[in-house]
Amino acid sequence: MAILVCGGAGYIGSHMVKRLVENGEDVVVADNLSTGHKKAIDPQAKFYQGDIRDRAFLDRIFLNEDIKAVVHFAAFSIVPESMSEPLKYFDNNTGGMITLLEAMRDFGIKYIVFSSTAATYGIPEHMPIKETDSQKPINPYGLSKLMMEHMMAWADKAYGIKFVALRYFNVAGAAPDGTIGEDHGPETHLVPIIMQVAQGKRPELSIFGDDYNTPDGTNVRDYVHVMDLADAHILALKYLEDNNQSNAFNLGSSTGFSNKQMLEAAREVTGKEIPAKIAARRPGDPDSLIAASDKARSVLGWKPQYDDVHDIIATAWKWHSTHPKGYDDRN
Ligand code: UDP
Repeated sequence: MAILVCGGAGYIGSHMVKRLVENGEDVVVADNLSTGHKKAIDPQAKFYQGDIRDRAFLDRIFLNEDIKAVVHFAAFSIVPESMSEPLKYFDNNTGGMITLLEAMRDFGIKYIVFSSTAATYGIPEHMPIKETDSQKPINPYGLSKLMMEHMMAWADKAYGIKFVALRYFNVAGAAPDGTIGEDHGPETHLVPIIMQVAQGKRPELSIFGDDYNTPDGTNVRDYVHVMDLADAHILALKYLEDNNQSNAFNLGSSTGFSNKQMLEAAREVTGKEIPAKIAARRPGDPDSLIAASDKARSVLGWKPQYDDVHDIIATAWKWHSTHPKGYDDRN
């Protein structure tokens, strides 16, 4: 039986597909390629190009393939864009989940692992953030993902579809063999932007604000390697099969790094100057976001391999420095 990876051509989804293939699983990818890259999909996975909001497209996959579980990454994920185009997020993210759960119900698929986010917590009440802390998102992206978590909980009660929601903190890095990596258009995330400055593709890094309530005044975030994240999804699939119950886990390293610390680490790793300036704050950035990730460690048995941001950045640099045009598939 196969695992269906929705959004398997995207940054995190493609690393998940690679890890599943390495583990000997049969993998089916569904992706509309709106932000993903065909070249990012492991050639051993079977690819269906289409939109998960299209019920006929999902039916074709579930009729053709023997799917035992779904891993769902197919969503938009840029916070500032969600502020200016909220309905785009509710349509694709929240709406996509409706069609996917309906199809899973009708085809008797029992398990889904879902890519959720720290953005569902909004302004944190405690640090580090625990899974039981209240979820009050402050942007449409976070709300669209929280609605998806709630939809899965009700679909569990009504139809017995079991889910694991994995709430990611800041995901970075690339496959250590350098085959796949992070390529968004436009790029908004800190690590790939720093990589682009190191490559000379951007003149400088703008650090958004240095007057936050943190040790050096710049935002503190919790970085987790994309391959460690993929491993957590594999453990979540096993958790569903072993326990047949729903649950939610934070995925982070439990350690915070400031934007200035990330810049310094990247200078050390790349040996490049990486010019930077302090710019205005970006709306909606909380001072610090650090995960309590002991639940994933104790319940799932998750053991992240990367505990040093230098090593995370080194894998990102390997991809960026060997792929100066990314996947080179944009017009
Ligand atoms: N950031 C920055 N300059 C950039 C991009 C990001 O200073 O060009 C900061 C951003 O304000 C935040 C941190 O880097 O404090 C991480 O941002 P990112 O967009 O990578 O992830 P987020 O925390 O929003 O999920």
